[in-house]
Amino acid sequence: MVAETPHVRRNQMTRGELADGAASGQVSAGLHRQSGGDHTVSVPAGVELRVAAPQPMALLLDQFDRTLLVPTLDRLGCTHFDRPEAELLGEAQPLNNFELIFIGAARVSDDEGIHTLREVLALNPSATIILLCRKELMTPPLLVAAMQAGVSDVADCRDAIALSTSIERVLRKADTRAERVLAIGAHPDDVEIGCGGTLLDHRRRGDLVSVLTLSRGAVGGDQSERILESTATAVSMGAQLFLADLPDTCVDPGVETIRTIEEIVRMVDPTVIYVHSKNDNHQDHRAVHIAAMSATRGVPQVFAFQSPSATNDFAPTRFVAIDEVIVRKVEVLGIFESQRHRSYLEPEMVIASARYWARNLAPRARYAEPFEILRSMTRTPTQPPTSSTSSLKPAPVVNIHRLGVEA
Ligand SMILES: [Zn+2]
Repeated sequence: MVAETPHVRRNQMTRGELADGAASGQVSAGLHRQSGGDHTVSVPAGVELRVAAPQPMALLLDQFDRTLLVPTLDRLGCTHFDRPEAELLGEAQPLNNFELIFIGAARVSDDEGIHTLREVLALNPSATIILLCRKELMTPPLLVAAMQAGVSDVADCRDAIALSTSIERVLRKADTRAERVLAIGAHPDDVEIGCGGTLLDHRRRGDLVSVLTLSRGAVGGDQSERILESTATAVSMGAQLFLADLPDTCVDPGVETIRTIEEIVRMVDPTVIYVHSKNDNHQDHRAVHIAAMSATRGVPQVFAFQSPSATNDFAPTRFVAIDEVIVRKVEVLGIFESQRHRSYLEPEMVIASARYWARNLAPRARYAEPFEILRSMTRTPTQPPTSSTSSLKPAPVVNIHRLGVEA
């Protein structure tokens, strides 16, 4: 059974806007990335779509003629940011969601410009770079320099059709290569603690991330505050958030929970699922695990994350490096202010845990999240590759002092 819901605009929302949305029960639309236009989606009864999947984002890095570009991006439903890279690289905001980066001709002829472009790309490894310049300036030397700088396409900023074609091609490609990830937790903050780094890494690679939280955490704190924190966290991570309302501490593993998860699985059509382990002292976590194993039986990859209440029987055999996003994970967990008294949310504990599990990946990674493999089916050649440890890059040095932790 599903209920039709109204839709409202949502992208980067303020805390006030989040509160308004919660009070009115409004939700935003867009289960999957779509190319512009308003639309309404249906969610199961008893489930609220708190945060919709973010629109694709474009970064306008240099000075060039924006007269046609901006309306084209607007028409295709692509959010755009017009900021210098120095500002972007220096701030702590998420930079890992850009599908498109537009640059001007001057950048590819300048060593410093290429260097900073590579820094931006390191934060957005799935982004496509498009060089915008006038057709008469597209000389062979410029095109060679552009190729060497990693540019994938060139468009005349005065040619509306060429611009539109290039952008649409990138958005189509981004849709087909992306994994669809669903993380399922019993309470607000469960999935962020257990697999927040892995979810951020999925987003960094351009995958679509959804979170289903089955209760509103009324026993663990003020419910309205916890809903706001969950919403703000999902927005910060670039994740879609479904919020159910099962009774906190009394979640049943039976048919109601199974049906709720099944409905969301049907909507999201995930290729990867993260869920609680059965090796957990919390009854809600075990109930969600049992229900999810029934409800996700058609999903090819299902992994169990570690909660602070996991027992010593938790036995992970899959480890995902989160070196690139460990700082972001700590920042995201900091949004759960109502739970700041919990020792497992202390930055030191989060970092120490990730450092401990990375011993299984040493020396290729310094920080990792552990998973039990519940299901891992062989993928066909037509399916997109999954985020795995096989494509790890060398581990960066994390600035521990930035996190307020003594090294
Ligand atoms: Zn929990």
